[in-house]
Amino acid sequence: MLRIENLVVEVEGKRILDGLHLTVPSGEVHAIMGPNGSGKSTLSYVLAGREGYEVIDGSVEFDGQDLLAMEPELRATSGLFLAFQSPVELPGVGNATFLRTALNAIRRGRGESELDAMQFLKVVRGKMTALGMKDEMLKRGVNEGFSGGEKKRNEMLQMALLEPKFAILDETDSGLDIDALKLVADTVNSMRNPGFSALVITHYQRLLDHIVPDRVHVLSRGRIITSGGPELAHKLEAEGYAGVVKAAA
Ligand code: ADP
Ligand code: MG
Ligand code: MG
Repeated sequence: MLRIENLVVEVEGKRILDGLHLTVPSGEVHAIMGPNGSGKSTLSYVLAGREGYEVIDGSVEFDGQDLLAMEPELRATSGLFLAFQSPVELPGVGNATFLRTALNAIRRGRGESELDAMQFLKVVRGKMTALGMKDEMLKRGVNEGFSGGEKKRNEMLQMALLEPKFAILDETDSGLDIDALKLVADTVNSMRNPGFSALVITHYQRLLDHIVPDRVHVLSRGRIITSGGPELAHKLEAEGYAGVVKAAA
């Protein structure tokens, strides 16, 4: 599903990713853990196609295509979903309109018919019930005045609605209370199927108590220094990054 080979990325002339290799097969959920500043967010931004991240070397294949050659919009309509640390607020843009526009763009990309307002409401309400969300959140501006937990809830709704092939969740547990954390985990777990993969990027192990990853990778100084099963996350929690980084060096 996702194959990253020797990825080297610079930001303002500074090398941030330095020969990163990572393969996430279809149907698997992988976690990336690593100390602050190791390049976790940089990796998610590069995959999303954000400006200012210069790819010096390497390749990224997504679902058989050259991801780095694709415009950010095409990446999204091809089934890549990114949940960011700080979701944007769009005051004045109704959340329902925003979600329907996003979903219809994806549906066009998949060659499916667009949903009108009534059809959309039916679909979105089904997802909201499953996520335990209140109808009221559809009427508000996108993330306008939302609490951290509500923003996360809204983002998980977006993910569940868009049904991506591949989701990248970057440090979604930072500053989240246990309910929001569980919601993120429940949403990812509910989407698990052979055609869906996810990359969960997190500094802490606690999210991985709820989303049990198939593989855990440790990122340090811009490359994956060691990989393992879910037990690696527990080892990191118990021993800290320093020991694991040293042992891998
Ligand atoms: P992580 O998410 O693992 O904490 P980041 O990817 O945010 O790490 O950052 C990795 C390194 O890249 C850090 O040293 C950070 O200071 C640097 N960096 C990130 N973004 C920029 C930027 N826009 N300009 C300069 N340096 C940056
Ligand atoms: Mg950071
Ligand atoms: Mg980060």
